[in-house]
Amino acid sequence: MAAALGLILALAPTGSARTCLLAGLGGGYVALLAAGSLAPQLDFYLRAARRGPTDRAWVALTFDDGPDPVITPLLLELLRRERVTAAFFFVGEAARRYPTLVIQAAAEGHLIGNHSDRHGYGWTVAPARRLFAEFAAASHTLAAILGQAPRFARTPAGVSRPNLAKAFQQLQLCNVAWDVRGLEGLYRDPARIAARIARRARNGSIILLHELYYGVLRFEPQQVVATAHLTIQQLRARGFDFVRLDQLLAPDQAVWAEENGSSPAATLGCRRAAGAAPQTGQAA
Ligand SMILES: [Zn+2]
Repeated sequence: MAAALGLILALAPTGSARTCLLAGLGGGYVALLAAGSLAPQLDFYLRAARRGPTDRAWVALTFDDGPDPVITPLLLELLRRERVTAAFFFVGEAARRYPTLVIQAAAEGHLIGNHSDRHGYGWTVAPARRLFAEFAAASHTLAAILGQAPRFARTPAGVSRPNLAKAFQQLQLCNVAWDVRGLEGLYRDPARIAARIARRARNGSIILLHELYYGVLRFEPQQVVATAHLTIQQLRARGFDFVRLDQLLAPDQAVWAEENGSSPAATLGCRRAAGAAPQTGQAA
């Protein structure tokens, strides 16, 4: 990108022509990032696992943007009662604030993932070292709390950018997206959200729910719990079993790579992540 810009600047004859070119290129770049954010299935720059094998009626539940001192304990209680193990993609700075919730979630059999350090978007346009630092800091925090670095990551809103693949490779992180999401900020009503998720879920679906919208929006705690509870009930009514994300993406499921059409590097990273020893004991 920088080299291409330099070349174009050198070729542009006048200051105003340069300004026009730069504005156009900058706009296009931002639009591309935005498109990658809104539609991670487009797989810009770094492919993301968004669905597991389709030969079984199973799905994986994932929660983003915690830990939160009010919501997380309520969700853990619900998951314990329902005997569901999920994946929590935690924000680094929130994990530093509430480390005991991170420990509790892992101890109860849930998978803990990296959801960036501060859940901002500055890293999408910053130099590569800032991109690396953003995810390295969250991995470092979770490793310090749990004694083991996370193997899975999800970027805020699924945004991607050039160099993300390299950073995730260095941090040994598998990039995970989703194929069904709650859109809780839009729909609000737990029954409506759960019904919509149940309608859209397929074999192997990775389902995205939120504890909150980090730094943007908090929901009523009961709304979050009701959404998760109804989602679990309705997916079960449709015959789906819940498995933890790393089980869904287990390396012996060869269909995974072909299903998602992943690049060899991304596939390798995720296969290694899913094939590593379980992060915590499985819940009963
Ligand atoms: Zn998020």
